Amino acid sequence: MIIDSHCHIWEYKDTKKAYSYVSNTQDLINILNTHWVQKAICSPEPHWGLSFDENNTSHEETAAINNIPYGQDNISLLKLKKAYDISNILLPFRIIDTRKKIKEQIKLAEQQLKKDPLYGVKFHCQTLDVNIADIDNPTIMPFLKDAKLPVLLHTWIRKDKWLASHVLDAVEKHAEINFSIAHMGRFEKKFWDRYDKNWMPWNLFIDTSPFYAICNLSASYKDKERLERILDINYKNTEDCFKMFVEKYKENLMRGSDYPYISYPEYQWSYKENIDLLNTLDEETKWKISYRNTLKFLWNNIV
Ligand SMILES: [Zn+2]
Repeated sequence: MIIDSHCHIWEYKDTKKAYSYVSNTQDLINILNTHWVQKAICSPEPHWGLSFDENNTSHEETAAINNIPYGQDNISLLKLKKAYDISNILLPFRIIDTRKKIKEQIKLAEQQLKKDPLYGVKFHCQTLDVNIADIDNPTIMPFLKDAKLPVLLHTWIRKDKWLASHVLDAVEKHAEINFSIAHMGRFEKKFWDRYDKNWMPWNLFIDTSPFYAICNLSASYKDKERLERILDINYKNTEDCFKMFVEKYKENLMRGSDYPYISYPEYQWSYKENIDLLNTLDEETKWKISYRNTLKFLWNNIV
């Protein structure tokens, strides 16, 4: 069994015309099936939004979600799930914007919990240019704790406030909530150094998505600022690099893809390569990274 711990759904009128490389929902279903991936944590694509079936959205519904950040996107994700009959595959995570109307967003999340499945929330610091530590908010944290929902954190390397290390005090403080740091924390040195003693909080998980792309990107960095921020390792040998992290952190890593690679369109091919990386591991380790750890992240299931 493989769970994809990080992907996005993308379906937009004229998407293919505007972004020829971008896949749609059917492409996502096909790629999951091809690689025997049975479940996928999925959130709306945060860069350009997700809008589906907008003409059929009732007036009442539109009024309720209008002007609430990601209101339309989060509803569209659920509609796509129903329209494509993939309720048994998709594990929806809501995107929450920490800049405004937080109470209204939490209210919508509570409503979703009553009538539709909700598996977690996602925060995206870079697209919104927000401080990742803003998740430690008196409205958000109690809601997550009560609803027992895990959190997916998209961190990035460019600005201090987007760095994985920037959110770790909040992660350690809220030990009853499970957190996933996406994209290997972009190999941020300060983040990985903090957990270099073979210890990592039990509520912290690392999503490896999309390993090939982020290794290649890190290998291509030339500017001093970014080079100083990331670990000094050989990113060119992706397999060795993967194994190095697996050796130390196999209890915390989760296999994810970040499909459909909107930020890195040239890596459309890498879904298969990332699965092949898993196949280089022994069976038990592979099971932990592709399945067991993600179960722990989602439901605290100890298998
Ligand atoms: Zn993503």
